[in-house]
Amino acid sequence: MLSSSSNSTDLDSLHLTMQLLQTLDNGLVLLDADYKVQMWNSFMENHSGIAISHARGQSLFDLFPDLPKTWLKRKIDSVFSLHSRAFCTWEEHPRLFNFKSTRPLTGHSALMYQNITLIPLSGLNGEISSVCLLVYDVTEIATRKKELESANSILKQLSRTDKLTTLHNRGYWEECLEQEFKRCHRSKRPASLILFDIDHFKALNDSQGHAAGDEVLRAVTRTVRQTQRATDIAGRYGGEEFGLVLPETTQAQALLVAERLRAAIADTVVNWEETPLQVTVSLGIAEFSDVLDGHQAWLELSDKALYQAKEDGRNCSKVASR
Ligand code: GH3
Ligand code: MG
Ligand code: MG
Repeated sequence: MLSSSSNSTDLDSLHLTMQLLQTLDNGLVLLDADYKVQMWNSFMENHSGIAISHARGQSLFDLFPDLPKTWLKRKIDSVFSLHSRAFCTWEEHPRLFNFKSTRPLTGHSALMYQNITLIPLSGLNGEISSVCLLVYDVTEIATRKKELESANSILKQLSRTDKLTTLHNRGYWEECLEQEFKRCHRSKRPASLILFDIDHFKALNDSQGHAAGDEVLRAVTRTVRQTQRATDIAGRYGGEEFGLVLPETTQAQALLVAERLRAAIADTVVNWEETPLQVTVSLGIAEFSDVLDGHQAWLELSDKALYQAKEDGRNCSKVASR
């Protein structure tokens, strides 16, 4: 009598436990040492479309041929042999099972992001008899994090970019110049700096208007982009003043670059409301040298050369004396 009542309590409690596992909002899979499914809950049934009655006794890898077999086998084996848990986050592997997930906020259907935990389970004899694989749907967290990362990267890009020309802005360009200065110090490799400024730009603004001036700034930028090499770093240093960092370039080579750029800008005609506009630029060149005590000193040197170019009649390039 007593034992029958205790049996029915055990059954009751087992029944409740099974229901509890079914209601879990996580995937739960019980595997034996041969990777065969002993049990899985309704989360797994609903997302895979495979009833437990069909899955039971079948290898997980036959049920899901897309699983990363070698990697997952190694993980499961280690849980069996080390008797310890193993984890895998969506950041390492976005998902184990290619389940769809519907995001409640947007109603947008996408593949589910999953965190996975593998837990060793022992039988009554204390031996590890199964591995419990828990699948957490972390799509909301993962998508939010990805959206945040993408917004941050756009903001970072914007904070470095000059709006009118889309070149590096002064702050970021100076950071690049500083990096190049440090790199030259370490590597003892050459590098040159060109600062250039549009000639008589105020007169053009006064006669044609600010919008025409803006269009000229964009046209100069296009020419810079066409003439610069992939490794050169161009930036808008001020109103109508630009900077070019030329890694691995001696002052003699930089003079050739400067003259090519000067000629290309002088040849460019901007058609502004039926009026052809043309500008010239003056350029100052300074090669990196060990005696410079910082990137600001490098800038000052090329600014002096630029001043010299203006003094010498504009539309020309001058190399700073070292
Ligand atoms: P110089 O040959 O000596 O360089 O003469 P300049 O007239 O170019 O030099 P100045 O420094 O006197 O004038 C620069 C002008 O650039 C004045 C300013 O209105 C104009 N400027 C600066 N930023 C912008 C801009 O973003 N758009 C336009 N359209 N003009 C700008
Ligand atoms: Mg000017
Ligand atoms: Mg100026």
